[in-house]
Amino acid sequence: MAQIVVLAACVAAIFALFMRRTPLLGWTAALAVAAYVLQTGLVGFEESDVRPFVWLLGLLALACAALAYAPLRRAALVAPLFRRIKGTLPKVSATEQEALNAGTIGFDAELFSGTPDWSKLSAVPPITLSEEEKAFLDGPVNELCRMAKDWQIRHELRDIPAEIWEFVKTRGFLGMLIAKEHGGLGFSAQAQSLVLGRIASRSPDVCTLVMVPNSLGPGELIEKYGTPAQKQYYLPRLAKGLEVPCFALTGPTSGSDAATMRDVGYVERGRHQGEEVVGIRLSWEKRYITLGPQATLVGLAFRLIDRDNILGRGEDIGITVALVPASHPGVEIGRRHLPSGTAFPNGPNWGRDVFIPIDWVIGGEKMAGQGWRMLMECLAAGRSISLPSSSAAGAKALLRHTTAYARIRKQFDLPIGRMEGLEEPLARMAEVAYVNEAARAVTASMVSRGEKPSVLSAIMKYQTTERLRRALNDAMDLHGGRGICDGPSNYLMSAYQTMPVGITVEGANILTRSLITFAQGALRSHPFLYREIAACQDASAARGLVAFDAAFCEHVAFTLANAFGALFHNLTFGRFGRVPRTAHANAVVYRQLWRGARNFAFVADLAVAVLGGQLKVRQKVTGRLADALSELYLLCCVLKRYEDDGKPVDDRHVVALCAANGLFKLQEALRGAIDNFPVAPVRWLLRAVVFPLGAHYRPAPDWLGHKVVGLLLAPGEARDRLTRFIYVSRSEDDPTGLLEVAFTKAVAAEATEKKLDHAVRAGKVHRVHGNDWFAEAVKLGVLSEAEGQQLRELEALTARVIAVDHFDPAEVRPHYMTAGHNARAMLQDAAAQ
Ligand SMILES: Cc1cc2nc3c(=O)[nH]c(=O)nc-3n(C[C@H](O)[C@H](O)[C@H](O)COP(=O)(O)OP(=O)(O)OC[C@H]3O[C@@H](n4cnc5c(N)ncnc54)[C@H](O)[C@@H]3O)c2cc1C
Repeated sequence: MAQIVVLAACVAAIFALFMRRTPLLGWTAALAVAAYVLQTGLVGFEESDVRPFVWLLGLLALACAALAYAPLRRAALVAPLFRRIKGTLPKVSATEQEALNAGTIGFDAELFSGTPDWSKLSAVPPITLSEEEKAFLDGPVNELCRMAKDWQIRHELRDIPAEIWEFVKTRGFLGMLIAKEHGGLGFSAQAQSLVLGRIASRSPDVCTLVMVPNSLGPGELIEKYGTPAQKQYYLPRLAKGLEVPCFALTGPTSGSDAATMRDVGYVERGRHQGEEVVGIRLSWEKRYITLGPQATLVGLAFRLIDRDNILGRGEDIGITVALVPASHPGVEIGRRHLPSGTAFPNGPNWGRDVFIPIDWVIGGEKMAGQGWRMLMECLAAGRSISLPSSSAAGAKALLRHTTAYARIRKQFDLPIGRMEGLEEPLARMAEVAYVNEAARAVTASMVSRGEKPSVLSAIMKYQTTERLRRALNDAMDLHGGRGICDGPSNYLMSAYQTMPVGITVEGANILTRSLITFAQGALRSHPFLYREIAACQDASAARGLVAFDAAFCEHVAFTLANAFGALFHNLTFGRFGRVPRTAHANAVVYRQLWRGARNFAFVADLAVAVLGGQLKVRQKVTGRLADALSELYLLCCVLKRYEDDGKPVDDRHVVALCAANGLFKLQEALRGAIDNFPVAPVRWLLRAVVFPLGAHYRPAPDWLGHKVVGLLLAPGEARDRLTRFIYVSRSEDDPTGLLEVAFTKAVAAEATEKKLDHAVRAGKVHRVHGNDWFAEAVKLGVLSEAEGQQLRELEALTARVIAVDHFDPAEVRPHYMTAGHNARAMLQDAAAQ
């Protein structure tokens, strides 16, 4: 028995030493003590039985002591590895290097570490707005939402109405990110996110109009990198809408791989406004440029070449961004694309041999060649705000409208939302709304306090848009024909049509998931990888070896700690995971998250070490690891939102639903990555460590979904909280306002309706066309006068809610067929030039 206890203690000690990343000298001491204790017979073993183990322990202690001596370790072990690893580590191109250097590392690094520091999560401030920001949301933003008539914009005009342009320009919407000193509103990222979200919940087209000038583009680039003259001239004009900006990066041959653009500028001397100046002769062809057709100022990205070394910095200066007025001679602002039936202006632009002075480069001559870095830096912050805001708001608005509709619309004598088959998609929609909003709020707070989270912003972009797409499909299914038939009363179609735009822009989702999030994220957020790569790329081999040695030793300890930590937590089902003091009811979820982080860190670390330079092409593995990292982050945000909201009792079921599904998806993502890991022995090892007792997370049970949907099928605080910050109309003349009114009345009339239904089923009252069944029910004493009136009113409202529009064929005939400047014609034009 004593021997079993001793063996168990030894195993526990080994786990503890590995998990605590004990240094080599610590191992030396531990092994020496173990050898001594065994040899003395203190623990009851015969000396002759244990002699080989004593020798083994002694030799291991000696090896550890030797390895602890740095010059010896480097010469014997690290230097050969250093030379080999140099060849297998991912090759980082110049543009990738700039992308890697851009942005900040934040909570993503905690997840990569396998031992997240929960205090860093709780230190992110909750949603905080200034009085001015609150007043703007409740004033001009609501006013804009009231003005936005979706059908008019999307169908009748296929354009943004002049009064909306005027309103957003004069009320400062286009300058939310421009500092007050430059005439802008100087709003925090959180406020910008909420403004964009509220507008998106009303009209995706109007949201795009406001979003573009407030995200990556001239305004932000000038604010951050512009010369004093550029700031002084352009920022007040942009803030007041005197300039309409667009940002032109994408071209026909450079989409996702924007850095390979063929758009080129040659440094030359030339004449500008009668004077000879150093300038750039530009040729470019861009497409898909939002606001392009109406822009007065083009932020143009191109590659700058200085063949005559006029700037004295060699020939290839690199990607550069310049401010080119649309009215400048030679600038061709094309006509319009028709992206997914949306109404915001979007189109191509081009130019041939257009001469601009070098002062037009954002930041002036010294910033020539810095374009990619500038773009990546701004993208890291902007990607956290723009699309996550509209995706969170979209999910909340869909949830509010769809649950209202599902409560009003009856089939088989039952509100359709009460049928189990529909409860399932409604619960999914509730989960998307809660998760997207939680992650939006936390990430926007990070940006508000100055972070530019490059990895987390990539997660936010692809996850929130992807989840919104799922929610949209669910909303459409739930509405049946009511959602499909377009017209002024359809409140789903504009989001449905715009969805592919959100999926594609700011890094198309497949690329963002399978390449950017994990492959670049690992390089950035992994605690040692970046240091190792930097050491390998050091020009001085000796200095590189010393730096590599330090990072590598820590890396080995980290890998072993994660392997033993993951195995320990998996064998103990996460019971000993670390929990923040504030966790209370969610302690169990935090423990599982801790365990999940350990597992993720272990798999991610081995994936990086084994796949090395292959990481960029093994996208099925990296995509799944991106999903695993996303689930960890999103679930952290869910827990934080619950705590920031004051742990509302009603929300605990929503959190439990999100947690169960999040952990299940985390497990499946890791399982998929491991099952498909291309190197068999590593696959076996990963499986043994991560799933030693199998995969035991399950999706949220049906009863949780039932509870959550129950919260949404009646008016109340929980429903309002789950759909917070969106625009809610209360006007019967508005399709969504009508829903709100009818929904409240339907819930209030539930008991009365039951009385009538009962009488109809009993054959007392006849609910058929041509009969006034309310009057009949009153006459028979089934309903009182007031009840009859209540149901009559509800019936009329319901009839309007379920009605769909119909048109004269001439009204719906497309009118752009005759004037189209199609792609083939453009190619012919290009060939002719
Ligand atoms: C409505 C709209 C508005 C836009 N607004 C602007 C704007 O204002 N300014 C601007 O500059 N651009 C804008 N864009 C361009 C947008 O950023 C690009 O469409 C986007 O970068 C994708 O490029 P692409 O469409 O050429 O697709 P492609 O690059 O051809 O990609 C096709 C598919 O392949 C995937 N893919 C490509 N490479 C990889 C890889 N290495 N690994 C994995 N998957 C990969 C992509 O994810 C995508 O799914 C806009 C586009 C649209 C549709």
